[in-house]
Amino acid sequence: MRVHGSREGMEVSLRERGPKAPGKRELHRASNDRHVEGRYWSVLGLCEIANFASLRRHLGRARADSLVLDVARRLSDIVPDIRIAAAGRAVIEIAFERESPEEAADDIDRISKGFLRALDLDGEPHQLDMHFGVAAAPLVEDDEVLLAEAAESALDQARIDGRVVMLDLSRADLAFDKLTLMRELPRAIANGEMFLQYQPKVHVRRQEIASAEALVRWQHPTRGLILPGDFISVAEQAGEISTLTLWTLRQVIEDQKKLREDGFDMLLFVNISGQLLADPAFVDEVCGMLATADAKLGFEITETAVIRDPESAIRHLQFFADSGVTLAIDDYGAGLSSLAYLKKLPARELKIDKMFVTQLTSSNRDPLIVRSTIDLAHALEMEVTAEGVETPSALALLSVMGCDMVQGFLISRPLGLDAFRKFLADDGHLENASGPASFVRPESFWKRA
Ligand code: C2E
Ligand code: CA
Ligand code: CA
Repeated sequence: MRVHGSREGMEVSLRERGPKAPGKRELHRASNDRHVEGRYWSVLGLCEIANFASLRRHLGRARADSLVLDVARRLSDIVPDIRIAAAGRAVIEIAFERESPEEAADDIDRISKGFLRALDLDGEPHQLDMHFGVAAAPLVEDDEVLLAEAAESALDQARIDGRVVMLDLSRADLAFDKLTLMRELPRAIANGEMFLQYQPKVHVRRQEIASAEALVRWQHPTRGLILPGDFISVAEQAGEISTLTLWTLRQVIEDQKKLREDGFDMLLFVNISGQLLADPAFVDEVCGMLATADAKLGFEITETAVIRDPESAIRHLQFFADSGVTLAIDDYGAGLSSLAYLKKLPARELKIDKMFVTQLTSSNRDPLIVRSTIDLAHALEMEVTAEGVETPSALALLSVMGCDMVQGFLISRPLGLDAFRKFLADDGHLENASGPASFVRPESFWKRA
């Protein structure tokens, strides 16, 4: 759904986001409160001052830096009940709830029209060119991450189109017709619609970024961003997972070269579907690729994949290990487990599934499971990564338990290559960081990424 880009209007308290990601949490609670009042749609918008650079040239840096306050004031004049937060010097995040997407679209329409009128900046009228990227989802299906990612992808589209873009994430829209997706996938891979994001894994004791995991995304021309949970199984069923994974591997090898040029020579992990461990053509192709590329790769595989056809999986994994690939066991504890196979796998790393980690400090059982898994992995001479680390308290507990590496939103969301390079470049000051909590980045960082 798209709407075109009016009107005006009070005192705004612009909420800079806190150091972790509390904004999201607050937003969520507010949403649920509204739910009781019968507002069923959650709306998240990103409003970007497109001509920020030229305004800064004219106004000077200091004044330009407070432009978001002027924008926030106008926004709340137009729609008084919206919540507003700065997401950078030129981007403002807005959030509100409505009874229907049509009602939400009306408000967005009023907002965009409201910026057609010049803003009074210290007595001088200035026209702000705005880009609006908006996502709306039914509150019952509210997924903050999905909503934020959809708003970002809507903003990307708005920059290209030069107009307001609003994505409707209702299940009706998202109830992907898997068959259609299956048909579209080969073209999407060939057309460059897939892209990778990287999520760092931090070594707790060494206080450094040990490696990163590549996660694939599909930027669909009409549906917007599609996350792997919605298309990996489609790719498997469509027989396209090999093509997709080979594309991913080539891209990761290329990206690794760029990271090296920046001075970051790090191991990059790729998720390898269980299906592929039984596919000799895939294994041959990958071994050939590894022989020619000067790459430092890791593969994440699930134990369930191995248990399905252990003999060929273990043989193929050994080929990969012999070619210099670091193997990590993914989602440990979430699927089938077998100590017999665990012992036989040439894996160097074990990743504890996020379902145990996100509940770590609120559950009685999960800390016991995590602790004993860490001890087990160490006994098998594997390093342990906890995924889904979202809070400083989880990080602190994992650190005490002897967990080697952590990965999760606390440290960073998955980032596109450029943002990831920026993340690494900004990391210099961490060398002297005293505690793991210093990896926490301000929310504004992610927003600009
Ligand atoms: P995974 O391998 O378990 O990847 C981690 C997932 O957890 C990612 O979701 C990531 O965005 C999310 N995550 C990271 N940190 C946190 C956190 O602190 N809290 C929570 N709640 N979640 C966090 P994503 O990117 O949607 O990927 C979903 C799954 O799709 C992956 O799960 C992986 O199994 C699969 N996948 C992703 N890329 C590929 C690929 O290139 N090939 C294959 N075969 N599978 C892939
Ligand atoms: Ca993984
Ligand atoms: Ca995982």
